[in-house]
Amino acid sequence: MSYFEEGQFALIRYEDKKFLKKLQRGHSLNVRKDVLKFDEVIGKPHGVKIGKFELFPPTLEDIILLGFERRTQIIYPKDAFYIAHKLNLNQRSRVLEFGTGSGALCAVLASVAGEVWTYERSEEFYKTALRNFKRFKIEGNVKFHNEDFLNADVPENYFDAVFVDVREPLPYLKKVHGVLKPGGVVGFLLPTANQVIQLLEALGELFGGTEVLEILQRHYKTLPERFRPEDQMVAHTAYLTFARKLTPS
Ligand code: SAM
Repeated sequence: MSYFEEGQFALIRYEDKKFLKKLQRGHSLNVRKDVLKFDEVIGKPHGVKIGKFELFPPTLEDIILLGFERRTQIIYPKDAFYIAHKLNLNQRSRVLEFGTGSGALCAVLASVAGEVWTYERSEEFYKTALRNFKRFKIEGNVKFHNEDFLNADVPENYFDAVFVDVREPLPYLKKVHGVLKPGGVVGFLLPTANQVIQLLEALGELFGGTEVLEILQRHYKTLPERFRPEDQMVAHTAYLTFARKLTPS
């Protein structure tokens, strides 16, 4: 059996609320009229219920949504986990992404792929991502680069997949094509339809098998007597475009 230890993070559920807290002796959480003393949690099994509080080890989604310091816009888990699936990643895959930003997508890629190379040109955001990974002890299969991808020395035909999350992806298409293995998958995240149209025009002869989609996620109230969707939802995060590297015959 697994038990909560001092210094470990816990996902705490209280009615419709969620908290991610580090368990430290002498600390507590107050919600409405209830108090959870962390001294009472340390040593209890994972998945314990204390009064109205339920405590679990956090999932990667909990860590990204509730724990990651955000200095940039991040890729939300609803998009990030689907991206990892569309990039066809497994423990033998090598994937490259830019820019790293706060490291949210990077953390998902690291949980699936064998090797992740990530590029961030801003020193501030590069350090933010490193802090997030260190704080939550995310595995060490990631090579962080504080460098502009365009100037970086990257091996040709080396990566199974590349993901591009920058405002202006067009200047990078040739280089992305070069670093991908033949037939490799590239993905792009773009918030506006205008950007997607420009990208589709630019993919040209370099990439084929193109798909564009967006993920709409609707949460439901989990009360059996009033089962229905939540009143509010996130209507749009971004469009996802995926394509494969073409090689001239
Ligand atoms: N995907 C990230 C996440 O989930 O946390 C967020 C990425 S953020 C929206 C875009 C980042 O790309 C910014 O931090 C920016 O500094 C970086 N960036 C823009 N152009 C770049 C380039 N040519 N090379 C490396 N990083 C770049």
